[in-house]
Amino acid sequence: MISLEAAREKVLARLKPLASEEVDILSGWGRVLAQDVYAGQNVPPVDNSAMDGYAVRAVDLKGAGPETPLSLKVVGEVAAGTAYTAMLREGEAVSIMTGAPIPEGADTIVPVEYTKQAENRVRLYLSPNPGDHIRRAGEDLRQGGLVLHKGQTVAAAQLGILAALGLGRIKVTKRPRIAILATGNELQAVGEPPQENRIYNSNSYTLTAQVLDAGGEPLSLGIAPDDIAKLKQVLAKTQACQILITSGGVSMGKYDLMQAALKALGMELIFWKIAIKPGMPTLFGRWDEKIVFGLPGNPVASMVTFEEFIRPAIYKMLGRKQVMPDYIEATSAETIKKKQGRKNLVRVTLTLKDGRYYATPAGQQGAGMLSSMLGADGLMILHEDSAGITAGETATVQLLNKSVVGTGNA
Ligand code: AMP
Ligand code: MG
Repeated sequence: MISLEAAREKVLARLKPLASEEVDILSGWGRVLAQDVYAGQNVPPVDNSAMDGYAVRAVDLKGAGPETPLSLKVVGEVAAGTAYTAMLREGEAVSIMTGAPIPEGADTIVPVEYTKQAENRVRLYLSPNPGDHIRRAGEDLRQGGLVLHKGQTVAAAQLGILAALGLGRIKVTKRPRIAILATGNELQAVGEPPQENRIYNSNSYTLTAQVLDAGGEPLSLGIAPDDIAKLKQVLAKTQACQILITSGGVSMGKYDLMQAALKALGMELIFWKIAIKPGMPTLFGRWDEKIVFGLPGNPVASMVTFEEFIRPAIYKMLGRKQVMPDYIEATSAETIKKKQGRKNLVRVTLTLKDGRYYATPAGQQGAGMLSSMLGADGLMILHEDSAGITAGETATVQLLNKSVVGTGNA
């Protein structure tokens, strides 16, 4: 059996980022940048006021204070979107609004709270420092500066930056197309009335959601029975895609025929059986231009092996900077025993107390217990050679995305 780390390494080693495409910025949300983005202009473009108040020359207000206001002549008004085009002279002030450009000659803004205007004169009750309340051109984004990196995901903040620079179109990595096939004689489609001895196909739904969340484009191949001829027939019709995910039929049972079907179609097996629990019988291979993940049918094994291998693979294809999951250290709240030999990935709920994370098993740990994923914030990693963990000991926990497991027990 191959270790989780070696298996993931083998997967990632054969992948590289997909080609890029240009999209309009809103369609770019959630996508991965395939280009560095430099500021084509200063943001803000010109020096402007950070306050509503008066644009003045600081030197004119030397000695002004709460008890000793000084008076200036109000020579104009400037609102955001307009400009005061004359030169501000000695003894003058311009009424100015937030975001309006600083009049030439002015070097300071006095907030309106420290002023009192009557007719065309204003009294100012403080002696400002030059530069007060002025936002400088380029202080947010400097023209020519690198603002976004290739490999960054375009979230709300990135979209805002692109918009602030006036960029309507961006280059992002193409989304990998990912075909999903559920297999098993016992499976029936959601929406049908329940039949005897059948279970509903839930894996196609969890996997589709995981693919979407990771940034892939899912393609449903429906359900196929445990019949080698049928499997070959369905698989042979798979449309162009970068990744094929199958669920079920990869262990040692009489009706576990996936490996044979794939091999008959020309798949080169790269590994089968990983020293993990859940997910041990996972297979990985290459079939023409595609990589193939044969996941076990148990619903938790399917979800967990997706997170361990397929999400990182998608991230690598998207050219993301971070491909690997996030990990934290947590104290185990319970004593958990395990057999040696495999790495256990224990679904846990995390609670933060006095600056420490505590991990409690999230429900029953059987690979078929899909409900245990509902409250799982992460997977506590108990290594191959360990016989378990004692309450109070520390372990590494791989964090699961909230978009995959929901908001925990909250
Ligand atoms: P298998 O990997 O085919 O041996 O299946 C292991 C277990 O997972 C069996 O109990 C199956 O009934 C169940 N299973 C297989 N495929 C699915 C699926 N698509 N949705 C829900 N459960 C499944
Ligand atoms: Mg089966």
